[in-house]
Amino acid sequence: MPIYEYRCMDCRKKFDLLRPMSQSTEPAECPTCKGQARRIASTFMAKGSGGQSIGGGGGCSSCSSSSCGSCH
Ligand SMILES: [Zn+2]
Repeated sequence: MPIYEYRCMDCRKKFDLLRPMSQSTEPAECPTCKGQARRIASTFMAKGSGGQSIGGGGGCSSCSSSSCGSCH
């Protein structure tokens, strides 16, 4: 289960919460003041959506094409 970071809207305290991915966007309860906390965008998400550029260049290591559309 992934860990998400939340910040309380009332006391502004940050805390981590282990939740299923399906509940990640739902408001959480602050453990300090029982106020409502909102999820903070994690640094994991900030890395960008392009997670398949490990090999660098256009294609991947198993093909020589630049689009790499047929080998995945
Ligand atoms: Zn709070």
